[in-house]
Amino acid sequence: MQVSWENLIAHIRGCTACPLHEGRTCAVPGEGNLSARLMFIGEGPGKQEDLQGRPFVGPAGQLLTQMIRAIGLERKDVYIANIVKCRPPFNRAPTREEAEACLPYLRAQVALLRPRILVALGATAARHIIDASVRITLDHGVWTRKGAFWLIPTFHPAALLRDPEKKKAAWEDFKTIRDKLNDLDAHPERETKEDGREKKEVRQAQERMF
Ligand code: SF4
Repeated sequence: MQVSWENLIAHIRGCTACPLHEGRTCAVPGEGNLSARLMFIGEGPGKQEDLQGRPFVGPAGQLLTQMIRAIGLERKDVYIANIVKCRPPFNRAPTREEAEACLPYLRAQVALLRPRILVALGATAARHIIDASVRITLDHGVWTRKGAFWLIPTFHPAALLRDPEKKKAAWEDFKTIRDKLNDLDAHPERETKEDGREKKEVRQAQERMF
């Protein structure tokens, strides 16, 4: 039986499944359009996100918002979530145990949303949802298909703020994402056919993708 968004969000907000809950102000489940075809997945909440209970609201979030606008969309058109829903201390990367404790929530979000494209923002997200060997500097912008999902890694916006020289490469990735989305929208008949053929594959992909 599939959970509802309301139950899922309530569960996340009260979750104590890993030690990260001890330091949180607010859990950050994610937010956005519940019919979004494009989903962004970051690493975990930072200071501002922890205070507000919303994803990507600090400086990195403002940059992400600008990049989303640059491909003709608004934040209300997409869904944004993270690998872990509670802030790791000192903004460190989540441990494998913390990520594994939290990933069932992300799987449930993907199962409810059923986006066509998942964008991994940064190495942590990419290694958990695409492949453990992903290296962002080498593999950004490269598509992977898992069942009905298209996955692509790109730079985390915080990395772009630290090293603005990466912005050009990130923009190329975002143009690729825009083009893929347009292509999928332009061929709904192909999508419907694929959905029919891959219904079982979608479910299997959701189960094994992270
Ligand atoms: S990070 Fe995830 S698993 Fe850990 S307490 Fe928060 S919601 Fe639960």
